[in-house]
Amino acid sequence: MAKKNAISAKTQTPAAKEKQVIAEFEKHIYDLQQMLEISKSFCSTIEFSPLIESILYVAMAQMRVTGAGLFISEEFGSEYFKLSENYSGIAIDPTIEYKIGIDSPLIEFLSSSSSVFDLHELSEKFPESQEIKVIESLNPSLIVPLMLKNHLNGILVMGERIFVKNLSADYTTYEKNEIQTIASLASVAVHNASLIDQSTTDMMTKLRLKFYFYNILEDKLDSAFFQEQTLSVIMFDIDFFKKFNDTYGHACGDYVLKKVAEIISDSIREEDLASRYGGEEFTVLLCNAGKDEAMLVAERIRKRIEQTTVFYEGHNMQITISGGISVFNVETNPVRSAKILVDQADKALYVSKRTGRNRVTVFDPSSQNENSAKETESILEKTNS
Ligand code: GH3
Ligand code: MG
Ligand code: MG
Repeated sequence: MAKKNAISAKTQTPAAKEKQVIAEFEKHIYDLQQMLEISKSFCSTIEFSPLIESILYVAMAQMRVTGAGLFISEEFGSEYFKLSENYSGIAIDPTIEYKIGIDSPLIEFLSSSSSVFDLHELSEKFPESQEIKVIESLNPSLIVPLMLKNHLNGILVMGERIFVKNLSADYTTYEKNEIQTIASLASVAVHNASLIDQSTTDMMTKLRLKFYFYNILEDKLDSAFFQEQTLSVIMFDIDFFKKFNDTYGHACGDYVLKKVAEIISDSIREEDLASRYGGEEFTVLLCNAGKDEAMLVAERIRKRIEQTTVFYEGHNMQITISGGISVFNVETNPVRSAKILVDQADKALYVSKRTGRNRVTVFDPSSQNENSAKETESILEKTNS
């Protein structure tokens, strides 16, 4: 085959040779432009799930495979690279735990190599390895390490190749280089997304922090305004939380915080956002939800907490929580600032506290006008007298 190519290259006219060189250049430029687009897309996705999805789709499209999966270390200090939900178009066996020990010889080997591998190469090197069996069950066509500064931070597993007439099912050297470049771009993006994830998450409750909540709320508030949709914020505060600390110690208080956070997380939809706003205060952002939906969610959370008995070192504890709701609505409450909307929820929460706790109050924007009118009147009276 190589001989035949050599002969045909020799017999090419200068014009045909020139045409071929130009075609090769053009392909190269096209591929570089594509890499630039891929890089831009990875860099502009800072949230984990959309980023993983984007990496998988790019890898699948560029390498002509029907599916792909990405093993990553999901938490700081985790001992495994896990597949979890990070796959698309590959068959998963529910009886298999798709995880690879960070200390395993396979990981050590992949970390020290700067190459891609097929299953056969790795099976030969590690014939008894449990980790290889896990990868083997995915029927991979190629295994691509995600390297960042000599450090492995993921393993991309390519699925079955799509048959294309006149194209070999084997990966060419060019393709292997291409997927390695994609993997190195993906590696930087995964690292950045994981740093952002860690620095915006409260380690104890696993909920997002206030700063992150505000950022998302600002964005969603803008969209709600332009699309004339409603949006609600719930603010919760644990009732008499201090007594848990004072009676059973700070660790007990922490335990209560974790339990409450768990109940809140389990009571909302994937698209909603819960945060640990401060000490024993939590917020929930509900997109596309008006007063009734927000009340339903807040009451669901309040009741679940009230009905849960928390056991801590032999003690049974009952917890209650108070809530306040504010609703953005273009007509009835057209606030444009996240801070004002949160302040409104906080005011409603204060009413719940004042009127007996373990209840939820909705902020009424019309009463705010009345109140501020009353405040102005009283200030005017004081200034006049
Ligand atoms: P109220 O019903 O009026 O909200 O009363 P409360 O006792 O819940 O409110 P207060 O503001 O008096 O007390 C809140 C306490 O939460 C005080 C603070 O020490 C404690 N706290 C804040 N952050 C943490 C934390 O991370 N862990 C623990 N264990 N306690 C915390
Ligand atoms: Mg508080
Ligand atoms: Mg409290």
